Amino acid sequence: MTRLRIAVQSKGRLSEGGMDLLKRCGLRFAYGRDKLHQRAENMPVDLMLVRDDDIPNFVASGACDYGIVGENVLREEQLAGGRTAELEIALRLGFATCRLKLAVPVEGEIRDLADLQGKAIATSYPGITRAYLATRGIDVEIVEMRGSVEVAPRLHIADAICDLVSSGATLQANGLKAIETVFESEAVLIRRKGVQAPETDSIARILMRRAEGVIASSQ
Ligand code: ATP
Ligand code: ZN
Repeated sequence: MTRLRIAVQSKGRLSEGGMDLLKRCGLRFAYGRDKLHQRAENMPVDLMLVRDDDIPNFVASGACDYGIVGENVLREEQLAGGRTAELEIALRLGFATCRLKLAVPVEGEIRDLADLQGKAIATSYPGITRAYLATRGIDVEIVEMRGSVEVAPRLHIADAICDLVSSGATLQANGLKAIETVFESEAVLIRRKGVQAPETDSIARILMRRAEGVIASSQ
């Protein structure tokens, strides 16, 4: 029997919530978390545990049928072009909510969006950041960073940052304040657009129906 393949983040903010949701949908797994591949014992479903940034491409290429990923990562990968344009959101999952925000030093002369003209902005989301500012007529230099974006202004690597924020504590601890929300995100279930493979579509439908119930009951 063909098994449904779902990509989930191996460790990080989406992995616990993702695994938790799948378990509450009735899936049972035999092994611990440190495996690339997990086989559900009671349904024809396999999980691939990978880095979140790889999930859109894994689903777009057909290596996996579905993926659980932050909408921010989906959007960024789609702006980078390629096959991820063929992806769609099958279900909004309601966890891992966060905002991508532009933030500037508290003590400084940048106060609003217009002040960013010609400035350097550090971010892990160059596509989303550039697109947002471009539609507002603001041209910036993007400094791409993989992590610890919040230290960039202090190190004089950039004038401002565009980074994921949930509570705002990290910004505050680094002498930064948000001036604009660029993107609102939550975990989403993604798949390729169009007709799904009939062998796996029925199991996907069952899981999604259950997931809707789980999400509704936890809100
Ligand atoms: P990986 O090693 O898989 O690449 P990562 O460091 O990119 O991990 P996490 O920090 O675990 O990933 O974040 C995964 C996702 O969780 C983000 O892309 C975002 O959608 C969501 N998220 C929710 N709250 C936050 C937050 N406060 N900061 C960062 N991401 C958050
Ligand atoms: Zn990542």
